[in-house]
Amino acid sequence: MKNRQNLKHEPVPLAIVGGGAAGMFAAAVAAERKIGCLVFERKVRLGAKMLMTANGRCNFTKDIPAEQFLRDLGDPVAAWAAPALRSCPPQAIVRGVRSLGVKLRRMEDGRMFPDSGQAATIVHAFGDLLRDEGVPLCVNCPVTGIQPMKNGFIVATASFTVWAKNVLVATGGLSFPKTGSVGDGQDFARQLGHRVEPCRAGLTGLEVRDRAISAQAGARFDDGTARVLDASGQTVFSSAGEVDCEPWGLSGSAVYNCQRWIARHGYAGMSMEVSYGGQVTTLRTLVPRPLKEAIVTIGGVSRDDVDPVTMMSRNVPGLYFAGEVLDVDGPTGGYNLTLAFATARAAVVSVQARLRDGGVAW
Ligand SMILES: Cc1cc2nc3c(=O)[nH]c(=O)nc-3n(C[C@H](O)[C@H](O)[C@H](O)COP(=O)(O)OP(=O)(O)OC[C@H]3O[C@@H](n4cnc5c(N)ncnc54)[C@H](O)[C@@H]3O)c2cc1C
Repeated sequence: MKNRQNLKHEPVPLAIVGGGAAGMFAAAVAAERKIGCLVFERKVRLGAKMLMTANGRCNFTKDIPAEQFLRDLGDPVAAWAAPALRSCPPQAIVRGVRSLGVKLRRMEDGRMFPDSGQAATIVHAFGDLLRDEGVPLCVNCPVTGIQPMKNGFIVATASFTVWAKNVLVATGGLSFPKTGSVGDGQDFARQLGHRVEPCRAGLTGLEVRDRAISAQAGARFDDGTARVLDASGQTVFSSAGEVDCEPWGLSGSAVYNCQRWIARHGYAGMSMEVSYGGQVTTLRTLVPRPLKEAIVTIGGVSRDDVDPVTMMSRNVPGLYFAGEVLDVDGPTGGYNLTLAFATARAAVVSVQARLRDGGVAW
């Protein structure tokens, strides 16, 4: 027959599940490296959570040396994230975002924002790149299952399935579920034999029953400090920055960073002292706001089950994880998006090596 097309059913080299910060960055890196990929996104648009970051301004990284960045992260996260971070330090992220045509603004402390003051500038720049590179985007299309087979994976949605050689799970944490991050990736990980550390709120406010605080609701203090004290009253962690009064208690970056430290290291015996506008409040009972309101999720796919160099599962070859779905988090100031980007890049670099080295059976 003349003009007969050669239609063969081929697997996609990389299926990316989740079109948030990690998924978009992974797709951009894959496009740059000419790796065929496909993005599945639960919501109708990419990057819903990224649009909310830094009150809509998107503090996308902190332009400081990788070693300082790792010190700020603190262990146990820093020790695990070091290879990905050193391969994709903040300066590489700055170059990458600038190469999308985004004008940038650097704050004195290194925090980086789009000069427009709009997170949408960055999200649209990623979208434009993926459109120009012809990366297929399946939006409004939640993945419902990931089934490993001899020849890769079947990635299922409610209406169709796709055959993929490699799968990157970048479905995010559990906070702000209206942005699409509802815990699917943690469920897929569990179903495929991975441990998932309990998910809890990170970088969130603390509830305080204090009329003086609720009476000041709405007040912001830029030069506040918060200190975490152990049972003997010793300061074990401190953070300087914003302290805000809320109808229910205290928020702001200084409080968030101390709350994250406590959530990582355990609440038992800890108290917190918060100073702002000449006032000092001691919190002996520490009640964090709910996970759904948190900036980041602490917990997720166990670091022990994922190779820190490649982001590949130690249990299922060809299955990768990146971003907040992992039990990885950082303080306020661009650390969490940086972690999402760096882990995404590490995964794609490994996918490329795997495809080249014939790590798949066809
Ligand atoms: C209010 C707020 C402010 C923040 N500000 C900052 C900041 O200024 N700087 C910073 O560094 N970090 C900030 N963060 C944290 C940062 O936004 C996250 O750490 C980061 O977005 C995580 O990226 P991710 O790709 O892992 O997850 P997400 O960005 O949450 O993306 C996950 C995506 O996966 C999709 N998805 C989920 N399940 C499925 C499925 N089954 N199938 C297909 N798609 C699916 C979701 O719809 C979502 O789009 C902030 C967070 C919040 C909530």
